[in-house]
Amino acid sequence: MPSDKYVLVTGGAGYIGSHTVLELVKAGYKPVVVDNLCNSSEEAVRRVGELTDSKIPFFKTDLRDKEGLDAVFKEYSIESVLHFAGLKAVGESTKIPLEYYDSNVSGTIVLLKTMQKYNTPNFVFSSSATVYGDATRFENMIPIPEECPTGPTSPYGHTKLIIEEILGDAAAADSNLKVAILRYFNPIGAHPSGRIGEDPQGIPNNLLPFVAQVAVGRRQKLQIFGNDYESKDGTPIRDYIHVVDLAKGHLAAMAKLDSVTGQDGQGYFREWNLGTGNGSTVFEIVHAFEKATGVKIPLEVVGRRKGDVVNLTAKADRAHNELHWQTQLTIEDACRDLWKWTTENPWGYGGKPE
Ligand code: NAD
Ligand code: UDP
Repeated sequence: MPSDKYVLVTGGAGYIGSHTVLELVKAGYKPVVVDNLCNSSEEAVRRVGELTDSKIPFFKTDLRDKEGLDAVFKEYSIESVLHFAGLKAVGESTKIPLEYYDSNVSGTIVLLKTMQKYNTPNFVFSSSATVYGDATRFENMIPIPEECPTGPTSPYGHTKLIIEEILGDAAAADSNLKVAILRYFNPIGAHPSGRIGEDPQGIPNNLLPFVAQVAVGRRQKLQIFGNDYESKDGTPIRDYIHVVDLAKGHLAAMAKLDSVTGQDGQGYFREWNLGTGNGSTVFEIVHAFEKATGVKIPLEVVGRRKGDVVNLTAKADRAHNELHWQTQLTIEDACRDLWKWTTENPWGYGGKPE
């Protein structure tokens, strides 16, 4: 239930964070955004304010800046933290792992210590399906349940798992702390207004942002990373989830944390997958995009991308049963909304580079 207190959204200028800030305001919550803008634009927060007819407090602060973060907690009475901020590119993390550990892990520790100082109880963490690694190394682990043993395969994935473990230890030691770990599968799409969406810097790593840039003429053709996997058409399977559904999952997690208390001197800690429960291949996604937009995507099949696994499909029952949340939007909805965002903002939040 929304209260008079504030919800701190770290990384709230980013892709998933900005969509979640919008849903928070719509549901009556009062968000405060902290973001160092290393991968985003303040314009996203301004637009969320415009869409909701509200002024969202924004601080351009790095999470590792202890004094800067303290000032935010001092000014606003914060009840819950939604922690999106972090570096997220798998490939980049293999090149600059220490930056990833520093920003993701050190940033989270500063945040947790500040929360402890101000007695902030609720913490929702943006984790990832990547913590599971290749779930096909076990029998009967597709779709992937939360009980699947973890085994990330990149520095990025390691930071996510280490943060989960830190949060587990912190909750075990602090009866005031309640933690929801949300393991996202593949977020796609944009807000249906076309005003906010994903604005990747440089060459997009992810499939749909790349497809959209091909469709809008920013890039020549899509490269399909391998068609020799064990799937119906040889391309890998992912569980693609509309970003608005994903955003709403955070409100469901906050409601859950409101309804529970720690026990035996310990806080509360639980993980939930946020996915649809359905897998799609790369070709299926490309065809869905072509159907939703009427644009043909030129493509070529190239070799496998290092680190890709054949199937990441969520078992979504736990979130359904315990958070009373499930996805409502389809891949077609996501493609349509992505297309509106891309055609109305072909260069994202900024202008066309010179
Ligand atoms: P994003 O890059 O759009 O958003 C992250 C935001 O955090 C950015 O606005 C960035 O400027 C900010 N940030 C990064 N480091 C910071 C720091 N040290 N201090 C303050 N701000 C900082 O990414 P996103 O796709 O919105 O992802 C949000 C979260 O969800 C991330 O933690 C990511 O790892 C996780 N996640 C994303 C996906 C995905 O496919 N997009 C999948 C699983 C998990
Ligand atoms: N993919 C692709 N071409 C691209 C980007 C991605 O073929 O330009 C494939 C990739 O191999 C994977 C799927 O699309 O099978 C989803 O990749 P993405 O990077 O979007 O998400 P991931 O699941 O790797 O986090």
